[in-house]
Amino acid sequence: MSRISLRERIGKGLLLLDGAMGTQLIARGVEVGKCNDYLNVESSDIVFDVHRAYLEAGSDAVLTNTFGANKYALARHGFGDKVEEINRAGAQIARRAAGEDKYVLGDVGPSGDFLEPLGSLKPGALREAFAEQAKGLADGGVDGFIIETMSALEEIEVAIEAVKLVCDLPVFASMAFEVGGGGYRTMMGVDVESAVSKMVSLGVDAAGFNCGTASLDEYVELASKVALAVKALGQDVAILAEPNAGKPELVDDRAVYNVTPQDFASVLEKIYSVGVNIIGGCCGTGPRHIEAIAKRMRNPQ
Ligand SMILES: [Zn+2]
Repeated sequence: MSRISLRERIGKGLLLLDGAMGTQLIARGVEVGKCNDYLNVESSDIVFDVHRAYLEAGSDAVLTNTFGANKYALARHGFGDKVEEINRAGAQIARRAAGEDKYVLGDVGPSGDFLEPLGSLKPGALREAFAEQAKGLADGGVDGFIIETMSALEEIEVAIEAVKLVCDLPVFASMAFEVGGGGYRTMMGVDVESAVSKMVSLGVDAAGFNCGTASLDEYVELASKVALAVKALGQDVAILAEPNAGKPELVDDRAVYNVTPQDFASVLEKIYSVGVNIIGGCCGTGPRHIEAIAKRMRNPQ
């Protein structure tokens, strides 16, 4: 059976994404600090292997290994001139792993810099950089895009516009929130309502959150807030959530996530029940977390 279009699929119940990529690469022997995105060119078999692990665990869609594959982030590793090659290869590997039945989302992360006046980036140049990345991903055969872990409204706006300039595939947009005195806000101080209304006004197919530093219970509360904010706009936009496996604890300078796959799955089920139908995991999650969600939510006991 071949897949229906991603846009149609978004409205048809649970769409299970994958978990973290970085930790899975390290588990397969990739050195910490290496340019993960360049592995698409250099060691495609490792990346393929991670995608397969998630698909076998039950993912309906995998995210390409291109989180840092924009010109600015790649330049920090000396690969600023290989944007299209790295993204095209990333999409092709994911497509090969997903086959014709499962979906591939082109993963777009932040530039790692700020737009003027806070940083040195100009909107036009940043838009061009994201468009270059999106073109490589589209050429490689993605079904849609996920722009994630964003913290600045100006940057997510430019990224969404850039992808829409390149093609009309579905776009999922996601920001990372932290919980503090002022409720849930991104690192740049953006609250949930402002984030949701910006993403929705830019015509995304799904809006939501990923990463951040909330506890599992806080992620459920955040999901409810996002769902309320979307509902208040009266728009038919899907909601997505990719929480971390709880709050990390620092052990020997390494972030360690102690949440079990079962606990993670039970929280994701609660998040689903408030109206979030696109779910997956961010930092600290692996194939066992995805498998636990698939088992719990697809075969209720
Ligand atoms: Zn994360």
